Amino acid sequence: MIPAGRHVWRWCPQCRAEMGRRSDGGEERPACPACGVVQYLNPAPAAGIVLVQDGRVCLVKRRFAPKQGEWTFPTGFMEWDEQPAETARREALEETGLEVELTGLYAVESGTLPPDTPVVVIFYKAVQSGGVLAAGDDAEEVGFFAPDDLPGPIAFAAHRRVLEKLSAELAGDAGGGA
Ligand SMILES: [Zn+2]
Repeated sequence: MIPAGRHVWRWCPQCRAEMGRRSDGGEERPACPACGVVQYLNPAPAAGIVLVQDGRVCLVKRRFAPKQGEWTFPTGFMEWDEQPAETARREALEETGLEVELTGLYAVESGTLPPDTPVVVIFYKAVQSGGVLAAGDDAEEVGFFAPDDLPGPIAFAAHRRVLEKLSAELAGDAGGGA
C-alpha cells in the first residue's frame, strides 16, 4: 500500500515515462512500466546522541523547518558512506560543538519527518570527550536541560518517546535508587 499523502514520482527519473504501480514483494509500489524503475518508500536512517551531564540532557533548537524553533536531541540523516556511529558523532560535533564518545545504543525509534518522510532514528548514549558547547549547523541554540524544565516543545514523537524513557531513568536516579 502506498501511504496516503505520500509524494510519489509522477515521471520516471530514469526514462521519463509516466510512472504506474506494480506489486513488488507483496507491496504495491510506484513503478515505471517502460524501464522497470521502482520507487521504494523506505524510511531514511538517522542517528544522534543522548548526552546527559549532571542530570540534564543536551538538546538543540531547530533552525529550519519543519518544526523550526522546537527542540530535539542532536541527530541527523546518515550520509551514504557512513556507519551510524559516525553519523551520531558528526552530528553532535556539527550541532553542539562537542566531541563525544559513544557508550552504547540507547533507543531506536521510527517516525515521520513532516510532511511525509519516514525515518528511523538510532540514538546512542554519549559522553563528552572534547569540544566547547556552541550551537552550529542547523541548530539555533544548544544547552543542557532537566527533563522537567524543558526550554520548549520537543519536535518529534520519536524524540519525545526517548526523552520520556530518559526522564524516568533520571527520576529513578534522583530517588536514590530505591
Ligand atoms: Zn522508466
